[in-house]
Amino acid sequence: MTRISWNHYFMAQSHLLALRSTCTRLTVGATIVRDKRIIAGGYNGSITGGVHCVDEGCYVIDNHCVRTIHAEMNAIIQCAKFGVPTDGAEIYVTHFPCLQCCKAIIQAGIRKVYFAENYKNHPYAIELFQQAGVETEQVPFESETKEEESRLSSEMLVKLEELGLPSEELIELQRQHENLFKE
Ligand SMILES: [Zn+2]
Ligand SMILES: [Zn+2]
Repeated sequence: MTRISWNHYFMAQSHLLALRSTCTRLTVGATIVRDKRIIAGGYNGSITGGVHCVDEGCYVIDNHCVRTIHAEMNAIIQCAKFGVPTDGAEIYVTHFPCLQCCKAIIQAGIRKVYFAENYKNHPYAIELFQQAGVETEQVPFESETKEEESRLSSEMLVKLEELGLPSEELIELQRQHENLFKE
């Protein structure tokens, strides 16, 4: 049995939250974690009770959808609403935070940002994170999943060989495995 890592677990949570996004321009999820516990989550969405971009189309000004609150902001605001301290916490986001979210993350006292995908990484956001001593680390989500799937598939092939599967069938499965997991 292979246990998934904490990083993978929290990043999976953010990807799950991203599926709740109501803006079609970018689906983003964010999970705030303290002491290996999830304290808040957010996704790209409208204010509570507001219309959704998926129903009404985006409200675009200067090439940005202004209707939605970003996932990171929503997660931080959730903490404010329910009185949960964010000082010293970590955040897992599906995409590198925009400049506005970067500033909010720093001000909330969040010490580390894990992100799955680079997304128009703003040089000023990178600079601000560095200045504030907020660490950023890429945790590629898909590849880790694929790695685990590949490992599992390899183990199953070994087991099938041990169980005496005819070699021509084994060769065919091996070929399919390599096709599936080649980079
Ligand atoms: Zn939108
Ligand atoms: Zn943002």
